[in-house]
Amino acid sequence: MVAKKSTRKFQAEVSRLLHLVVNSLYSNKEIFLRELISNSSDAIDKLKLVALTDDSVIEANEEAPRIRVSTDREAGTITIEDGGVGMTRDELATNLGTVAHSGTLKFLEEAKGDAQLIGQFGVGFYSAFLVADRVDVVSRAGGSDEAWKWSSDAQETYTLEAAERATRGTTITLHLQDDQTEYLDAWKLRSLITRYSDYVSHPIELLEPKYGDDGETTEEWGQVNEASALWQKSADDVTDEQYNEFYKHLTHDYTEPLTRTHFKIEGTQLFTGLLFVPGKAPHDLFWRNQPYGVRLFVNRVFIMDDAEELVPSWLRFMKGVIDSDDLPLNVSRELLQESSITRTIRKQVTKKTLDALKKLAGSEDQEAYNTFWSNYGSVFKEGLHEDRTMSGKIAPLLRYRSSSVDGLTSLTEYVERMVEGQEAIYYVLGESESAVAASPHLEALKGKGYEVLYMTDAIDEWAVQGLGEFDEKKLVSAAQADLGLDETDEAKAEREEATTELKPLIERFSEVLDDQVQEVRLSSRLTDSPCCLVVPEGGQHAHLERLLKAHDPTAPTTKRILEINATHPLIRNLNLLQESGTGADAVEAWIETLFDQTLLAEGSPVVDPGRLARRMTTLLQDASAAALSQQA
Ligand code: ADP
Repeated sequence: MVAKKSTRKFQAEVSRLLHLVVNSLYSNKEIFLRELISNSSDAIDKLKLVALTDDSVIEANEEAPRIRVSTDREAGTITIEDGGVGMTRDELATNLGTVAHSGTLKFLEEAKGDAQLIGQFGVGFYSAFLVADRVDVVSRAGGSDEAWKWSSDAQETYTLEAAERATRGTTITLHLQDDQTEYLDAWKLRSLITRYSDYVSHPIELLEPKYGDDGETTEEWGQVNEASALWQKSADDVTDEQYNEFYKHLTHDYTEPLTRTHFKIEGTQLFTGLLFVPGKAPHDLFWRNQPYGVRLFVNRVFIMDDAEELVPSWLRFMKGVIDSDDLPLNVSRELLQESSITRTIRKQVTKKTLDALKKLAGSEDQEAYNTFWSNYGSVFKEGLHEDRTMSGKIAPLLRYRSSSVDGLTSLTEYVERMVEGQEAIYYVLGESESAVAASPHLEALKGKGYEVLYMTDAIDEWAVQGLGEFDEKKLVSAAQADLGLDETDEAKAEREEATTELKPLIERFSEVLDDQVQEVRLSSRLTDSPCCLVVPEGGQHAHLERLLKAHDPTAPTTKRILEINATHPLIRNLNLLQESGTGADAVEAWIETLFDQTLLAEGSPVVDPGRLARRMTTLLQDASAAALSQQA
């Protein structure tokens, strides 16, 4: 029986799909090559799978199957050839004439022509029509000795006829549209293959011109990709140098990464990850809307850059590759967002990254960890809120400056240094190290020999709330109203006595500062400073409040507690002045000045700087007059 050429109508869905693809992706035409190479790569994968149980599909002594891309300038064609599993006549008709996955069409229609969306979605074979006005597919299935040719111009129909093909596999010939001849250039194809298909695990060869010394041009096959996905190798088989080269290739970063994690997860889901911490932070790290995330591969086929669904935002500095065996090749960002596979991957990415950081932190190379910390610490700390389940792993990785050591300290080291009787971990919040180091809030703590962590990063107050405690020890702000310090009976009695003695002065303070503070009381924490402001239970610290107000001037203000130091000479003198009955105005001016000065000392703005300056001038004038009269 001689098979004649037959003409068939496409299934209605195919016509719609073709129409959608061509109309939505006209500005992303180049993806056709990725799609066809990925199909070829799949066909080789399938062949290998079939060959496991049926060796008739493979010829004896056959070379490893490859993918070959070539062009014919005169004919205006690109040919993509593979030694994969091939297709029978029926398979050609079914695979290329009907839509197998009804979900594909539904998704594409819902994406309503959004090229971005559709572009990230594998559109498969029909993308050939983005650049071609006619496509011929000649295929010979493994184990069969006949070949068939499928051909279509993407209108209503396709044809099927008997053809010749010497060996098993598929040859796809694209008759390029008149304005798509740029794809005839070998360099163009090489760059597309490198960009999109470098990690395809089968060799991709390109027929490229070679310019001889004699002026003759010949053509030669050259392998374009490495043909092995580095991340699929066992870590034992990859050198540091190879990892770093891969990192540089991936990120276009020329500096070495700080550390990496390479893992294979084989549970209910199968995926591989190779992730790096870059040596340098990108300038836009703090810009939340910047794209981040890792490259997603599905079965070694590149799917998308910046798959942010796979990485929590507080690890947005991580770079690398995730290769899933379970996600569909046509996965879109929308599908990724909803997929439970994504959640599993993200969880493992988080765990493995934290493990790698732990290892770096515990390594000899403290400089590397410190670089990590100064580059990414602020972002990393967001994790204390974003993923509470991980805070046990995050906390030991935190680093702070402190009152007791040069350089950075971990909480673990802090706890080791805690002195007898100390029950909490103390910290002080503020703008800069020099400001917090001099903070009056520290006086009592220093007096007891307690170390205080300096938290000067904008995110610290929020982050530390997410942490709460470490090693069963509460984190307590030095500016908190109740420091939970033990006060000796003697000290307590002294303070109570002083409170009675200074009662009128304290009342005067309360009257004058009624609008600004919640309460005025004697302090048990001050030794050197006349006063300080502390935060009532549940209140906001000044530092965070300033930040919030910078964004929203109407943000609520926490009224704080003013603590005064009963033993300070200034307070003593003020009390005498108050008791003398004369100079009530003077006392009021002193109180206001003291309050403003307390604000300035902690880096907060004063309400009326002009008024403060005038009061200061008067006070200085009086003081200078007093100094002069003393001399006289
Ligand atoms: P998808 O790859 O998403 O299934 P395509 O439209 O790209 O959709 O391809 C449809 C089918 O055609 C594939 O599933 C595969 O069975 C078959 N096919 C495509 N290209 C090849 C090829 N080079 N070799 C063998 N089979 C192929």
